[in-house]
Order: sequence, then C-alpha cells, then structure tokens
Amino acid sequence: MFSKKEEKRAPCTVEQCESCKKETKRKFIEGDYIFKETSPCVSCKGQLRITKIFGEIIKT
Ligand SMILES: [Zn+2]
Repeated sequence: MFSKKEEKRAPCTVEQCESCKKETKRKFIEGDYIFKETSPCVSCKGQLRITKIFGEIIKT
C-alpha cells in the first residue's frame, strides 16, 4: 500500500564485521542480500556480512 504522503526512499545496506562488530552503513548495491559476505573490514580485516537492508526516507 502507498501512503498519502509523498516521500522518497533510498535503499541502504548495513554491513557488520564478524570480528570487531563494527557496523557500516552504505548505499544499497544491486545484488546485495541479507547475510551476504562482502569486502573485508577496513579496521581488522575480518569478514563483513550484510545484516540489514532498508529504505531510508529522504527529506526533500
Ligand atoms: Zn572488523
């Protein structure tokens, strides 16, 4: 169902490092899915995994 208010949503992806538990939010990229293993963590080289995909409301 669509809401009456017009709002724009930008799909976002949240990745979490399995080692240091650091969470990173970034733009959704085609092909992303929950629990997908992505690039290594920048701080500890651990495995990043996608934990959340959501639509972030953009205020215009
Ligand atoms: Zn890490």
